[in-house]
Amino acid sequence: MKPACPRLPELGAEATHEYRLGIMGGTFDPIHYGHLVTAEQAREALALDLVLFMPAGRPAFKQDADVTDAEDRYAMTVLATAANPAFDASRFEIDREGVTYTIDTLRALRARYPDNVKLFFITGADAILDLVTWHNAEQMAELATFIAATRPGYDIEQARSRVVASGVPFDVRYIEIPALAISSTNIRQRVREQKSVRYLTSESVIGYIRKNGLYNVHKVERVEGTQVGE
Ligand code: ATP
Ligand code: MG
Repeated sequence: MKPACPRLPELGAEATHEYRLGIMGGTFDPIHYGHLVTAEQAREALALDLVLFMPAGRPAFKQDADVTDAEDRYAMTVLATAANPAFDASRFEIDREGVTYTIDTLRALRARYPDNVKLFFITGADAILDLVTWHNAEQMAELATFIAATRPGYDIEQARSRVVASGVPFDVRYIEIPALAISSTNIRQRVREQKSVRYLTSESVIGYIRKNGLYNVHKVERVEGTQVGE
C-alpha cells in the first residue's frame, strides 16, 4: 500500500517512541483558515508530531452535492499547508475508489503503521455531532482518539452529551479554538458573487481558485479595487 504521506514511512518505523499523528479530514472545497487554525491548535493541545490533511475522495456525506474535482481540492490543500513543517497533505483518500468512509481510512492507517503511531482524528464540533451516527462507530472508537474543536454555531455541550449518550466508548478531547466563522460554502458563494475572499484563506489558495476558474469565478474581475488577472 502506498504511504499516507511521503514522510511517514521513516517516522514511525523504528517503533522506539510514540508518534502522534493527527488526521484532519474534510472536503476542503476549498481549504480555509478555519481548517488551518483548528489543525494547528489541535497539534499544540495534543502534542501531535504531524497533522495530515486528507481531502475526501467522494465524501460520504456530500454524495448529492456538486463537489469540486479531487485534484483541485488536493492542490489547494498542498498550497495551504506548505508553510507549516508540521502539516502535510495526503492523497490517501482521493486515490481510493468510491465513497470515502472515515472508518476505512483509520483502518488502513492502523494497518499501515506500527503501534507506536497513535492516531488522532480532528474534527469541528459540527462533525463530532455526527460521530455517533457514523458507519461502524464502535470500531472507530478503538482506532483513534478524537479531537473536537469548537466552531461558531455548534454547541460543544450538546456534542459531549450525544457522544456520552451513544454508549460508544469514544475518547474525545474537546478543544476551544478562536471563533472563525469561515466555511467553504461561504467562500464558494463569495467567489460566485465576485466578492472578496481575502483573509478567509491563504493567498496561494485564492490564486489557485482564480487561475483555475473554480466556483464560477470569471477570469478577470475586480476585487477590492484591484484588477486581478490570471
Ligand atoms: P462546507 O461549507 O462545504 O461544508 P466546511 O467549511 O464545513 O465546508 P469541511 O471540509 O466540510 O469544511 O470541514 C472539514 C472539517 O473542518 C470538519 O471537521 C469541520 O467541522 C471543520 N471545520 C470547517 N470549518 C471550520 C471552522 N471555521 N472552524 C472549525 N472547524 C471547522
Ligand atoms: Mg462542512
